[in-house]
Amino acid sequence: DEECNLRVAVRIRPMNASELAIVGCEDVVRVKDKQIIVCPPKCSSQNVSMDHTFSYDHVFWSIDEKNPLYAKQEDVFMTIGVPLLNSAFKGFNACLFAYGQTGSGKTYSMMGRNVCSVNDIDSEEFSGITPRFCRELFKRVSELDDDCTVSVDVSYFEIYNEKIHDLLANTTNQSGTSKVPLKVREHPILGPYIVDLTSHTVKTYPELREFLISGNRNRAVASTAMNDFSSRSHSIFSIELGQSRSLNDTDNSRRSKVSLVDLAGSERLGSSTNDERMKQGVSINKSLLTLGKCISALAEKRKNHFIPYRESVLTWLLRESLGGNSLTSMLATISPSSSHLDETLSTLRYACQARTIVNRATINESPHD
Ligand code: ADP
Repeated sequence: DEECNLRVAVRIRPMNASELAIVGCEDVVRVKDKQIIVCPPKCSSQNVSMDHTFSYDHVFWSIDEKNPLYAKQEDVFMTIGVPLLNSAFKGFNACLFAYGQTGSGKTYSMMGRNVCSVNDIDSEEFSGITPRFCRELFKRVSELDDDCTVSVDVSYFEIYNEKIHDLLANTTNQSGTSKVPLKVREHPILGPYIVDLTSHTVKTYPELREFLISGNRNRAVASTAMNDFSSRSHSIFSIELGQSRSLNDTDNSRRSKVSLVDLAGSERLGSSTNDERMKQGVSINKSLLTLGKCISALAEKRKNHFIPYRESVLTWLLRESLGGNSLTSMLATISPSSSHLDETLSTLRYACQARTIVNRATINESPHD
């Protein structure tokens, strides 16, 4: 067994054109090693302008390419993607989820710039963690001994309004997703699973890439059909890696499940209370809200403390990744701009709390000794 805290990294994207166009908008995020210091604008007299300091496992400063401190896509993958890949080959489950407000860089970090283009998905500059992870996975598979048999199966789905849609089903409707929402069931030994979710065996990276891009296209179609889709839906790309080896006439096998999760935008949660939200008539993203509840409950570390996993589809499915049998990392993404100060602070606090969660990962191996 390996006990370890949920690892948390934060990435700061460059200012975008609309932020730069706001009068008085300034960069309020400083980085010092693994610390982030948020300095509210000094000119705003009504706010008490106190600096806030937060510590994480890694901080990626991606604002100015010309600066030696700049963290590019490759750096982010090497720091948080590779350790998860190492774990997967050892037979541990692994999970990475991207958290942050819409437009802060979750998809850019997880998938890349143009997620429907083969060129971009494989580009040295723009390729995100997921395609890099998959390329590196197949590279390592090719380097394994001949007596090791490997299987790779992928699935890709999204959760929108607490409903699960397969992004790789053959029968998709005009909105790019499976017609009928899929259901979660609990297997007595294997735990929660999605009934009728398609799973696809892939032998090479280009084969896997086809599925990745076709799932991304389906997401894009859905986003066009429903205007708040991309900010309100969670997407989960999952890889099952099986390794088996015949040793002294016994079959020795390991399997690992890797979940790469691009969460819905965190902005509707923000710091507003339930009351405020109800007044504004803003519907809550139940999965994201419950994820927050589970993180808070897990962070309290009280023995036999109730964790409300079953209250949402996302947390039910990711139960093992939160406080269970998995090596889990979170990538929180933020904007450097003073115009997003409140959301940024709320993301940074959330990310700090997640850091205190302890998981206990076990190698999924048979036969057991
Ligand atoms: P989210 O998934 O959080 O809604 P996106 O990943 O779509 O946000 O990013 C919003 C915009 O910012 C996109 O145009 C994206 O290309 C750009 N962007 C995000 N992160 C970076 C980064 N680190 N470097 C350059 N551009 C970025």
